[in-house]
Amino acid sequence: MERLLKAVSPLCPSSQPEMDGAAVFAIIQGTTTEPQAAYLDRIIPLTPDIAAVTAPVSAPEVFRISAPCAAHDCQHFAEGRCSLVDRLVQLVPSVVTNAPPCALRPNCMWWLQQGVEACLRCPQIVTHAYSASAQLMQAASPPEDSV
Ligand code: SF4
Repeated sequence: MERLLKAVSPLCPSSQPEMDGAAVFAIIQGTTTEPQAAYLDRIIPLTPDIAAVTAPVSAPEVFRISAPCAAHDCQHFAEGRCSLVDRLVQLVPSVVTNAPPCALRPNCMWWLQQGVEACLRCPQIVTHAYSASAQLMQAASPPEDSV
């Protein structure tokens, strides 16, 4: 299902902590081989104090972080779309059978672009994937003309 992108800046659900507007929307649980995001009932700005809570590991190893879509400053942005979520839906199997409750959804770039198909795959996504499947590795590779 494709939805029209909103006029407001959509939020990327796979952002880095140093990005402007970074916020926490889920906690990474599960195991290193099978990570599973637990979604929060609200989005929490990623302040230095909150980022420090994860020490000695980095914030992206514990938190799923959102930030406004960087558009052309992101290696995954191509032809006005997030190519990352397109590849995820195309290449990576679902890990849940229903879209999890998620506070990011109204403005999530992946949801706006791919709808529930993105949400069915989203819980397995982590920034530091220690044992990612070949499909996930392929999905995470940006388009060749952007590197
Ligand atoms: S893809 Fe779905 S579950 Fe993941 S952050 Fe976006 S709205 Fe939430």
